[in-house]
Amino acid sequence: MTAATEFEPVIGLEVHVQLATQSKAFCGARAEFGGPPNTHIDPYTLGLPGALPVLNHRAVEFALRMGLACGCDIALRSELSRKHYFYPDSPKGYQISQFDRPICENGHIEFVLGSERRQVRLLRIHIEEDAGKNLHLAGGRTSLIDFNRAGVPLIEVVSQPELRSAEEAGEYLRAIRQLVRFLGISDGNMEAGSLRCDANVSIRPRGSTQLGQRTELKNINSFKYVQKAIEHEILRQIDIVQSGGRVVMETRGWDAARGTSRSQRQKEHAHDYRYLPDPDLPPLIIDETWLASIAAALPKTPMQRRDHYLLRLGLTPYDASVLTAERELCDYFDQALVAAGVPTEDESLGDGLRSRAKLCANWLSSELLGLLNKDSREISASPVSAESLGELVRCVSDGIISGKQGKEVFFRMYESRQSPTEIIEQLGLRQLTDPTLITAACRKVVDDPAMQKQIEKYKQNPKLLGFFVGKALAETQGKAKPELVSAIMLSLLAEK
Ligand code: ADP
Ligand code: MG
Repeated sequence: MTAATEFEPVIGLEVHVQLATQSKAFCGARAEFGGPPNTHIDPYTLGLPGALPVLNHRAVEFALRMGLACGCDIALRSELSRKHYFYPDSPKGYQISQFDRPICENGHIEFVLGSERRQVRLLRIHIEEDAGKNLHLAGGRTSLIDFNRAGVPLIEVVSQPELRSAEEAGEYLRAIRQLVRFLGISDGNMEAGSLRCDANVSIRPRGSTQLGQRTELKNINSFKYVQKAIEHEILRQIDIVQSGGRVVMETRGWDAARGTSRSQRQKEHAHDYRYLPDPDLPPLIIDETWLASIAAALPKTPMQRRDHYLLRLGLTPYDASVLTAERELCDYFDQALVAAGVPTEDESLGDGLRSRAKLCANWLSSELLGLLNKDSREISASPVSAESLGELVRCVSDGIISGKQGKEVFFRMYESRQSPTEIIEQLGLRQLTDPTLITAACRKVVDDPAMQKQIEKYKQNPKLLGFFVGKALAETQGKAKPELVSAIMLSLLAEK
């Protein structure tokens, strides 16, 4: 029997991303998720005779944002085609999609797998419209259809068959989710169906360069199941091959409840769909000036922000991945940095500023996110503003308060929404840094007749410095900055 490790899994994903436009891809009906059934519809959505499509400008802009962010070749002229199939959720009898002339080709998705940075190449990204939703009632006699989703714009992101494990496929998909959210083109919510994924899976003998026969898994509707479904399919195929069988090309539906898949249909081929350019839609021509303006305004990708944090700020990969989990978190962090006095762009940072950035990252990821998590709050609902957090970091870095005092101030900031400066004043926490006052306190200690014996001992044993520093600190009710007390005490004792 051949060991399972002698097979190499090959995976290619087709990922559908629902674009967050206000209206649908080819008509003015609302594209918003949900709503009472069949309320976001119009004659075009229902495929009524005479209703003509008008392409949604915003949907094209969103597709271009994705294409540019993935380094795709953008086709200045592409085509919208009818893909024919007959199913109740498609009232026109065809879906508008793109066939051999998609808007974006090539490019890649970047992500991190373990500690390794990976790039998976894309075949294409194209625009298409979503179908409606069938609802099969229990009992099997009645099916209902909701057309609210029909005609909502999607992009389909198609990878090369380059993913090599279920885990890698999961990370790839997470990277797409993160990217579309950073680009502001979709909420990437898999559970609500705005991100959907079909997984093409095959196996081949390790070392082989030929592709094996693939199956296509559909109906995977959560991140958890992407990995499970693919793992299951890899094992199923290995099993078939090991027992002398052949994998057949088919579409299989994942059944999450049973943790297994079942054959839905033999895979159809492109010619089955009778693709033809939609006669109601002219070729899609992209104006180069418009494209350039989209490129110029393109939000930074999670990977660009990650690199910035690693290379310029010197943060750890762990910090960088926590901060880049959400765009709102990156934005918050960047604002906090400014308030903490860390310059934002184009300057290389010295160690001092790098450690200040690190301090910001720590306060954000352990203290603030810890509390927000506990209270199930998003960063956007944080009672501590980015400016306040940065200000707190500045107070600690500048020695106005100690790190320990900083914690107390932070908790009060979280409770009261006040700024750190306000709280520091209220609590009278400001560290004493005035040299005259500190010198006076130190003098009081060393001039105390009761101390003279200790001073003689100190001359033999300089380690006793701490004892005098402690006494002087007590004179200031612990408010003086310890480093200053220490330095001043040292020079006063030297005079003795
Ligand atoms: P279709 O549209 O018929 O599904 P495509 O050629 O567009 O076919 O491929 C769809 C997806 O299938 C792509 O993501 C591609 O990487 C993947 N794919 C193609 N061949 C294989 C294979 N042998 N094993 C795994 N994935 C594959
Ligand atoms: Mg396919």
